[in-house]
Amino acid sequence: MQAVMPEATAPELVAIVEAGRALLMERAGRARRLGAEQLRAACRCAGCTAARRLGGPVAAAAGIRISAARPVGGYGLNIGFSDGHARGLFPFTYLDELVAEQA
Ligand SMILES: [Zn+2]
Repeated sequence: MQAVMPEATAPELVAIVEAGRALLMERAGRARRLGAEQLRAACRCAGCTAARRLGGPVAAAAGIRISAARPVGGYGLNIGFSDGHARGLFPFTYLDELVAEQA
């Protein structure tokens, strides 16, 4: 029996594109784009989670850019933003959910 690859495997390619305005993930020849504002607003670090629990959506500054995207343990990305916020860990499963939200 052959193992079925889960949907949320690491993308073959991750790139910061559009001068930081978006993140591009490519898997099995299919490219998915996530905007910097959507990603920043979706940050699930402890600070943003607490802010969200207190009722507010996490504010993404207009024109925010992605400044870094580092692989973490083969299951996600640590994404840094131009507002200096770089605590967010985005598992690939979560990034896939964010892509699905765009549809
Ligand atoms: Zn955060």
